[in-house]
Amino acid sequence: MSEFGLHDLPLRDDLRGRTPYGAPQLDVPVALNTNENPYPPSERLVAALAEAVSAAARGLNRYPDRDALRLREGLARYLGHGLDASRVWAANGSNEVLQQILQAFGGPGRTAMGFEPSYSMHPVIAEVTGTRWVAERRGGDFSIDPDAAVAAVTEHRPDVVFLTSPNNPTGTALPLETVARIAAAAPGVVVVDEAYAEFRREGTPSALTLLAENPRIIVSRTMSKAFALAGARLGYLAAHPAVIDALQLVRLPYHLSAVTQAVAGVALDFSDELLGGVKQLREERDALVDWLRGHGFRVADSDANFVMFGEFPDRTAVFRGMLERGVLIREVGPPAWLRTTIGTPEEMSAFREALLQVTG
Ligand code: PMP
Repeated sequence: MSEFGLHDLPLRDDLRGRTPYGAPQLDVPVALNTNENPYPPSERLVAALAEAVSAAARGLNRYPDRDALRLREGLARYLGHGLDASRVWAANGSNEVLQQILQAFGGPGRTAMGFEPSYSMHPVIAEVTGTRWVAERRGGDFSIDPDAAVAAVTEHRPDVVFLTSPNNPTGTALPLETVARIAAAAPGVVVVDEAYAEFRREGTPSALTLLAENPRIIVSRTMSKAFALAGARLGYLAAHPAVIDALQLVRLPYHLSAVTQAVAGVALDFSDELLGGVKQLREERDALVDWLRGHGFRVADSDANFVMFGEFPDRTAVFRGMLERGVLIREVGPPAWLRTTIGTPEEMSAFREALLQVTG
């Protein structure tokens, strides 16, 4: 008898043939493939986290605060821009935030649009929520042409538009005018995915400044990158209170555990320390961009904690050569390009050495 498998289950037709999303989880000396922050929490932060978790543990017989109000207040304070808890929402990673947005505003008969190459989970979350995905292209420099974007939005009338800024995997940030023009033309909500916001270069603005003028803009953020808290799973967004009301309709009750709320609260208390690491990573990134260009590689301008570089006739060979030397990067983006996360100075020297050996 053949083994019972997926095909024997009454799986939704539109999920048949899909594979689960995920970067390879390989045990390598230098992991530069998932845009994590390479700096683990300090001992002082670990102690504060442990204390907050034990305080939370004493009340784990009870459900957590369903509205995560204190945490949302803290996040609003961190974001500034006159925000308060009524304009901030949190969930288990920004992927869950995005999923809730699509549950509320997407779904069967609805359309979401993105500008590719971009974060590949956007179409995945769209499709698994039954939302039709419309992919528009970015230009040769990975920017979005505002006229073309307005035309696409006018033609397809998407219920949800995704703008990723700084964009993954290219690192490209969008001018505010582009976001504002697309948002003015879009009939639905416009999600500006700012997972990498804190890594922006000087002078690159955040779409948070547009929230006051357009109630259909949603800015999503995460603690996984700048806050170096990928393991804790905390994503959040800022939007008009009506958007938060909509998300309350689809969130599961008590979706954010008391432990998560406590951990994220401590991370906010330590934001100065954590954002100190961001400064170092930005400097390391800018140095890497210069070094790569100095060695004749093409590099996309980056406002993030990763760099996309190329162009390689056979990028898989470069990826594999790097991996053989213990450096795991990511085969993602346009066919001739690769992406590396910015790690510690030591990790970046290992990256440079391996890249020269592989391509030299
Ligand atoms: N948005 C973008 C653009 C990302 O690159 C990522 C993570 N790679 C996420 C959202 C999701 O991050 P998390 O769920 O850890 O907050």
